[in-house]
Formats: sequence, structure tokens, C-alpha cells
Amino acid sequence: MKYKRSRYNVEVDKLEDGKKLIYNTYTGVFGIMDIETQNIYEDIENTDISNIDNIELQKNINIMKNTRYIVPAEIDELSSVRLQRASSRYTNQVLSLTIAPTLDCNMACPYCYEGKSKLVMSEETQNDLVKFVKSHFERYPSIKSLSICWYGGEPLMQKEAIYNLSEKFIEICNEEKIPYYANIVTNGVFLDAETSKKLVNDCKVSSAQITIDGMRDTHNKRRILMNGEDSFGVIVSNIDNCDKGMQIAIRVNVDKENSKEIEKLTKFFIEEKGWGHNPMFYFAPVGKYNESCDIEEVTCMKGPEFASENNQYLKLNYSLNRESALKHFYPKVKKTTFCSAENTLNYVIDPQGYYYNCWHHVGDSDFKTGDIKAPFMPTEKYMEWMLLDLSVKCEKCEYLPLCQGGCGVYRLGGEEAQCHYSYYGYKETLKLAYEDYKLRKSKPAHKNIKN
Ligand code: SF4
Ligand code: SF4
Repeated sequence: MKYKRSRYNVEVDKLEDGKKLIYNTYTGVFGIMDIETQNIYEDIENTDISNIDNIELQKNINIMKNTRYIVPAEIDELSSVRLQRASSRYTNQVLSLTIAPTLDCNMACPYCYEGKSKLVMSEETQNDLVKFVKSHFERYPSIKSLSICWYGGEPLMQKEAIYNLSEKFIEICNEEKIPYYANIVTNGVFLDAETSKKLVNDCKVSSAQITIDGMRDTHNKRRILMNGEDSFGVIVSNIDNCDKGMQIAIRVNVDKENSKEIEKLTKFFIEEKGWGHNPMFYFAPVGKYNESCDIEEVTCMKGPEFASENNQYLKLNYSLNRESALKHFYPKVKKTTFCSAENTLNYVIDPQGYYYNCWHHVGDSDFKTGDIKAPFMPTEKYMEWMLLDLSVKCEKCEYLPLCQGGCGVYRLGGEEAQCHYSYYGYKETLKLAYEDYKLRKSKPAHKNIKN
């Protein structure tokens, strides 16, 4: 059988001794390839591997097959990725709802992309939402789980709606004998000990994303509480007192204005608070998504700039707490769509019961794709999402299995695909993983072609 090099290999680095670091974005295997193996790999299209009788090389050839560094010549890898992508998009196995019980918020952050509104979800709309969920189980016996994300505005401004809907959804899942999953995106101000306990125990909310943007003064200037109080102090204390059954992920939104403070903030998280696992933290760039964002484009960091900054943050994190940093060194596992906006049975629901495919569109009626109160209709906007394809640039990209074409909003608008910042940083973070491996050679973190 003839073999070829996988189109999803990323050659990360050439080492001083001539060995090569190689990562396959389809299998997620990161390895070190010695020079003899490289010679075969680089000419694999013209090599009859059945004629190689060196046992050591045969062993490495088998590893290359298993890791998919080399694949049978007749395999069409792109079509296989496209097929997996399509079958997962339309599989109807997960009913996924992102619910904004209100678009109102107790904060006024300058970079917020949501148009503010005082709307809250009425009892009538909550009942309609429960009917909407039930109707899906009648229409789609294929559904194997229900997944809820509480979103806003600030969802905890409407705790009663969350408690009420959670109870009904859990009841439905019990009747259907399927698992129920829930998480929340909150600014953390109302996530006191009692609330977190209720969310974990009664509402099965297992994780929360909370934003902290800097040390006290910086954070309070960016995460502005409407009542002028110290949001930093409230959030940090809530995180400390949060029910341990909830995994907290602290997101730090970074732009040119707070980037200088990240070192101090990382030290505060790790050295002062002992955070890193639960809560864990990560950094993400601020973007100007629409005109509702008051932030200036010039303050935002572009992908390559942020990736390089992020690499410095990871190095610092690693020097302070190896274990918590290490998981950020490896790309996330391959996925089938960039986000759920391109999948069927995915609804982002606003307080009036209108739904959207993308989180960033919630509350903007120009982008609504349907209404929970009306019979399902494949509207033009909905179908645009469902039929959204990859761009030519992405089809050629070696990171496709990890990325799946980037945020759909750009492709939908006819723009060129926008590469996620991590695309610019993968090689550098994998090199950090290799440095860690060298230091701890006795306990390798990943498979190796040869060591
Ligand atoms: S389509 Fe883009 S903006 Fe919308 S939810 Fe997905 S990643 Fe976010
Ligand atoms: S958006 Fe960029 S990184 Fe992602 S698949 Fe397309 S070209 Fe590759």
C-alpha cells in the first residue's frame, strides 16, 4: 500500500540535533521524529515501506501510521473531515439551548457587544419555552441529552426564572431518561454562596464562566457596577465562597489597556489566592463585535499580537504553577464545528422567546432565526446558518480539524474566514510543552515517535 504525509501535520520545530517536533491536528498526537524516520517520512510518497527491514524503522513507520503522520495514499482527508463535520452538524442528538432570561445587566462594561434592554422573560414565555423543549422530544427521538447555558445580560438578575426553568427541564430529562447538563456565564456579582449551592444542587449547573479584568482598580474601571460598588471585591469573595461542585473558569479579557497588568493579576491568582484548577483562569482578547461595543478598535489586539502576549502569560503561569499551565500548552481536541451556531437543535433564546443561532446576535431582531411560540420554520436566516460552508482558505488549512473554519459570523457576512488567535500561537505553546517534556523526561506527557 502506498502512503502519503497527512495534510494535517504541523511541523512545529526542527531541533538542534536534527530531530523534528511534529503535531497532527486530526489525532492530536505530538511527537519527536528522529532523522532516519524523517528521511522515510519526507519521501514516503516514493517509498515502498514493505521493503524496509530495519526493525527500529519498521516500528517507527507503524507509529507514523497510528498517529496518522502518514496515511494511505488513496485517503481523501479533507472529505473525511467534511463528512464528520456534516454528520455532526445535523445529527440532532443534543438539544442545546443558550437562554437569556434577561438582557438587563447590573454592569456597564465598555466592551459589551449587547444592546442593553430591560426585558425579562415573563412567566408566559417561560411556559412557552418548556413547551418548545417538550415538542423537540416528540419530533426528535434522536435527542440524547439536553444542554443549557444560562446567559444574558446578567442571568442571575433573574434567578427565579433559572430556578423555575431548571426544575421543569430536569423533570423532562428524567422522564426521557437522558442526561441534563447546565452551565452559566455570569459576571459573578450575584453568585453568592447560597445561590451557587442552589445552582449546583437544584439546577445541576456544573460550571460558571466569570470575568475578572485586572487588579481591583483596573477591574472596577472596566467591569463597572451600576451602583458604583467595588465589583472586584464582591466577585473575588463570591468565587472563594462558591459551592465546590461548580467548576469556575475565570476569563480575563485583555486589550492594550490592561495587558500590562496581567503579570500582577496572574501572581494574585496563583500566589495569593491559590487558584489554577478550580477556579482555573484563561486570557482572551477583547474584540469590537458591533456598534454596541464602546471600545475603540485601536485598543483591541489582533490575533498574532494577542497570541504572542498569551504565550508570555502562559510562561509566567508555568513558572508559578506547572500543572495549571500545562493544560493550555496543548491545542484543544479536534472538533466538528467551530461553535454550535452552525448545528441543528441549537437555539440562543432571548427574553421574548425569539431565537438566534449566534450568541452575539441575541436581542438583535435583525438576526433572529425563529420564535419559540411559532411552529418551526426554516427561515432564510436559519438556513443561511445551516448551509454555511467552509471557505477555500480553511479547506487548505492544516489546522482545519482543530478550528473548523473560525467564527461563522464572518463567513456568513461574506468576509474572509477569521483565524482564531490560538492559530497563531499553537507552535509556540507546543514548544513550551516540549520544553516541559525535556525537563521531565522521566514522565513524558505525550506519546513520542522516539525518545
Ligand atoms: S458564530 Fe462566532 S460570534 Fe457567534 S457564537 Fe459562534 S463563535 Fe461566537
Ligand atoms: S479560520 Fe484560519 S485557522 Fe481556522 S481553519 Fe480557517 S484558515 Fe485555518
